[in-house]
Amino acid sequence: MGRTVVVLGGGISGLAASYHLSRAPCPPKVVLVEASERLGGWIRSVRGPGGAVFELGPRGIRPAGALGARTLLLVSELGLDSEVLPVRGDHPAAKNRFLYVGGALHALPSGLRGLFRPSPPFSKPLFWAGLRELTAPRGKDPDETVHSFAQRRLGPEVASLAMDSLCRGVFAGNSRELSVRSCFPSLFQAEQTHRSVLLGLLLGAGQSPQPDSALISQARAERWSQWSLRGGLETLPQALNTHLTRRGVRILRGQPVCGLSLQADRRWKVSLGDSSLDADHVISAVPASVLGKLLPAEAAPLARALSAITAVSVAVVNLQYRGARLPVQGFGHLVPSSEDPGVLGIVYDSVAFPEQDGSPPGLRVTVMLGGSWLQTLVARGALSPELLQQQAQEAAATQLGLKEPPSHCLVHLHKNCIPQYTLGHWQKLEAATQFLASQRLPLTLAGASYEGVAVNDCIESGRQAAARVLGSEPDS
Ligand SMILES: Cc1cc2nc3c(=O)[nH]c(=O)nc-3n(C[C@H](O)[C@H](O)[C@H](O)COP(=O)(O)OP(=O)(O)OC[C@H]3O[C@@H](n4cnc5c(N)ncnc54)[C@H](O)[C@@H]3O)c2cc1C
Repeated sequence: MGRTVVVLGGGISGLAASYHLSRAPCPPKVVLVEASERLGGWIRSVRGPGGAVFELGPRGIRPAGALGARTLLLVSELGLDSEVLPVRGDHPAAKNRFLYVGGALHALPSGLRGLFRPSPPFSKPLFWAGLRELTAPRGKDPDETVHSFAQRRLGPEVASLAMDSLCRGVFAGNSRELSVRSCFPSLFQAEQTHRSVLLGLLLGAGQSPQPDSALISQARAERWSQWSLRGGLETLPQALNTHLTRRGVRILRGQPVCGLSLQADRRWKVSLGDSSLDADHVISAVPASVLGKLLPAEAAPLARALSAITAVSVAVVNLQYRGARLPVQGFGHLVPSSEDPGVLGIVYDSVAFPEQDGSPPGLRVTVMLGGSWLQTLVARGALSPELLQQQAQEAAATQLGLKEPPSHCLVHLHKNCIPQYTLGHWQKLEAATQFLASQRLPLTLAGASYEGVAVNDCIESGRQAAARVLGSEPDS
């Protein structure tokens, strides 16, 4: 009888793991179990008036690097090439990014020449931060916060304005708590290997082998900065669902896993409330803290390590305005915590993907709310959709001059949606890996909780988990 692999969680990580399992030459029996009625996890696209697309989660995927290329390969394998909406290198959404500081929008310098020009809000041209970086000694600690790393290598202004904002934009997190080793491994590694991040990035670039396809070549030739899909990014999990169903993967929805127990024959019993599944191997693609609660008593050390991986909440407010114009054209802007503790940034969705503006078209922007402001209100239970909408509209009015009321508004509070790789995250991963290896548990971890939160990272984590279960090393 063939092996049964149960995959927990139907977000993009669990879907990618199931996809790669189902494509093996001798695939095991695969059962994907999802708690909610829909697949895709945080990837969710909804239609608004006139067919406009509103992303409630991720809105763009980066094509760069080996992981970016693999996701494009997956897109082609699923037959979605014609649905891809690219942002080409010469487009304003690829070239222009802004910081909102001191009550004004400031364009971040792009290109080499920009480094030599004065670039407010920074007091000196960024060339000086680069020079400092090239000459700073190598750090000695096994991990460091992003803020401390950036301050040491690039100076206090870059740390408190640029890196603070970047951590808010990518992780909705605090640069003084997040780990540089785990959040920005390429920066950490570059310093370790070449002493300087700039040198390391320059010398280390382009070394990893990458897959190729017509779509990947096009993305390279046109220097795409990101891409989406015509009907929204949720088209990707939907296409995976169709593919998996065709391949005979059993997909259970609306079935929260409520416990895992290890039987005498070392097979798992996966409890689903009033029924259960037997599994030779489990791939967990649910958040680490969720898995921590599902594990049996004999896996308590693993549960402890996983429960220590926390996540923060983000409120996503999609706004659409009729007849309005933005003061600048670009991807969007980020807001450092010193400027506004609650507004993480605003994405100018219509600039990157005007095809999703609906008919008649309306300007779409998304205000991301989070940080200490949101965490305090969530903890106090003092949040309402009205308060979030008001906060977002005020931000759009003050920061972008969008003073008229929006014609359409969607408010979603995503609780614990972005895992936080805080200082020492690598030790939690090492503890988990060591426990799994020493106990020879038939359990493999995948998902945003571990080694990257971007969609590309999650898809890769699913691919690697599948390869480990199948006993083959994933291609590098
Ligand atoms: C607001 C927001 C914006 C983002 N923007 C971007 C972006 O622009 N670009 C980018 O690359 N990335 C972005 N990300 C990150 C990326 O979208 C996520 O990290 C990624 O989608 C997480 O996928 P996952 O499958 O690991 O986890 P999830 O999406 O969390 O999926 C886990 C699944 O497990 C299920 N589950 C939970 N408990 C159980 C249980 N007990 N039993 C069964 N199932 C269970 C859940 O219902 C869920 O479907 C964004 C994330 C958010 C929240």
